[in-house]
Amino acid sequence: MARIAIGGFQHETNTFAPQKASWDDFARADAWPPFLRGEEMFDAVAGFNIPVAGAIMTLRARGHELVPLCWCSAPPSSYVEQDAYEKVAGWMIEDLAAKGPFDAVYLDLHGAMVAEHLEDGEGELMRRVRAVVGDAIPLVASLDYHTNMTPAMVRHATAMVGYRTYPHIDMADTGSKAAELLDRLLTDRRVLHKAFRQIDFLIPLVWQCTLLDPAKGIFDLLGEIERGTDKKGAPSGAHNQGIVSLTHTPGFPPADIKECGPALVVYGYDKAATEAAADRLAAAVKAREKDFAGRLWEADEAVVEAMRLAKNATRPVILADVQDNPGAGGSSDTVGLLRALIAHEVRGAVIGMIVDPPSAAAAAAAGEGAILQRGIGAGVGFAGEKPVEAAWRVVKVGTGIFTGTGPFYNGAKFQIGPMALLIDEASGVSAVLACKRVQAADQEMFRHVGVEPSKVPILALKSTVHFRADFQPIAEIILPVRSPGAHITDPAELPYKNLRKGIRLSPEGPVYL
Ligand SMILES: [Zn+2]
Repeated sequence: MARIAIGGFQHETNTFAPQKASWDDFARADAWPPFLRGEEMFDAVAGFNIPVAGAIMTLRARGHELVPLCWCSAPPSSYVEQDAYEKVAGWMIEDLAAKGPFDAVYLDLHGAMVAEHLEDGEGELMRRVRAVVGDAIPLVASLDYHTNMTPAMVRHATAMVGYRTYPHIDMADTGSKAAELLDRLLTDRRVLHKAFRQIDFLIPLVWQCTLLDPAKGIFDLLGEIERGTDKKGAPSGAHNQGIVSLTHTPGFPPADIKECGPALVVYGYDKAATEAAADRLAAAVKAREKDFAGRLWEADEAVVEAMRLAKNATRPVILADVQDNPGAGGSSDTVGLLRALIAHEVRGAVIGMIVDPPSAAAAAAAGEGAILQRGIGAGVGFAGEKPVEAAWRVVKVGTGIFTGTGPFYNGAKFQIGPMALLIDEASGVSAVLACKRVQAADQEMFRHVGVEPSKVPILALKSTVHFRADFQPIAEIILPVRSPGAHITDPAELPYKNLRKGIRLSPEGPVYL
C-alpha cells in the first residue's frame, strides 16, 4: 500500500477568447463540481465522467491510501487570471507540503492552461510539485486530448496519460488508466524512458474528431502499438517491446504560446523500442496531414441546405455552430446562425444554448406564456454583434438543475439555470437560454425545457465535436457551420505572436515565421 496525493487543476485556455478565467469561475459548479479541497473531494467527484473520479476508484481498489489536495475546473476561456492560478496552485502546494511524505502524486490536468503570467500552466505546476516531493517518487498526470504538451510537462511528470476520444467519452477511464500506470510504477520501480515528439502543423478542432478518419486511424494505431498486435490480433512488429504507455495529444490551436500544437509521448523500458514507437506514431500523423480537412458551411448556405435536406429527412438535420463553442472559449451567445434561421423562417428549428443570464432571468420572471419584447444573445458583443430583437414567447422555464445522460456528460450534475425555451412566433424559430457557458453536448439540456431533440427538424448546437457523442446517433446529417465565434476554426486567421517558428498554421497551411 502506498500513500498517494491527489489533486486536479483544469483549464483549457483560448488566448484569443473575450473572457478570462477568474477565481469565481473555478470556485463555482457548472457541469462539473465546484472547487474542492480535502476530504470533500471524494464524494463530490464520484459518478462524474472526469479523470479524478476514475483515478480515485482505481487507486482505492488497489488498496492505496489517498490524500486529497484540491481539485477544480473552469469553463474554457481566455487566460487564467494570475490571482486564480496562484490561489489554486498555492493551496495545492501548501497541502502537499503539509500532508506529506508521499509515495506518489496523481494530478488531473487538462494540459492547455495559459495564465496571465505563465505560458505553461501545467509545466509550472508540476515543477512546483517536484520542488516539494523531489524527483524520486512517481508523478503521474492524466491529460485532455487537447493538451498542448510542453517539454516541461514531459520533464517533470514521470508519466502522462491522455484521452483517446474526441468527443471525450473516456475521461474517467483515462483517470483509471493513469492510476493503473501509477500502481505499476510503484511495483516495477524501474526507470521509464520517455520519447517526446512535437508535430509541426496545427490541427483545427473540428477535424480532430476520433469518430472520423484520420484521427480514428491514428488512435487505433496507438492501441496497436501498446498491445503489440494489429486489429486482427497478429503481432505488429518489434516496436511494442517494453512499451508501457503512449499518449498523443492533437493540441489546442487557439493558444498563442510557443509549445502550441500536436505532440506525443511514449514511455517504455527499452530506449530503442520507445524511440522507434514515437517515430512510428509521429510519421503516421504526418502522413495523414492533408486529410485533416473538410467543408465548413457559411450560416446562410447551411440553413438553405438544411431546409432542403429536412424535407425528406426522418431525423434532425444538425447544424454545428463550431466557432461559438463554449467548450473552446466561445461566449455561446453569438447570433449569426440564429439570425440565418430567422431570416429563412425555419419553422420548428431550435438553437441552443444561448448563454444570456439577463434574458433567462427575465423569462423566468415573466413566466410561461408571457411575451418578452427584447433582444437575446450577443451580450458579450463578439464580432460587434447585436442582440436579436423579437417578440419572444416564453414556452417553458427551468431551474437548470438536471443530470447529464449522454456519453460525454453522463452523470454530470448541471447547475446552469435559470433556463428558458423562447420562440419567435413570426419565424417559428426557438432558442434555449441558459446562464452558464456549457457546451450543447447533452440531449438533457433540451429536454429540461421541454424539447425532445430527436423530434426537431433542424437543430443548431453550439459545439464543435463533443455534441456528436449524444447527437450523432439521432442525426440525419451534420453540417459544420462557420458563423461568428471566439473559437476561430482556421488557425491561419488568428493573430499569433508567440508560436515556435516553422510550424504550419493548419494542415499543409502557411508557415509561421
Ligand atoms: Zn478536450
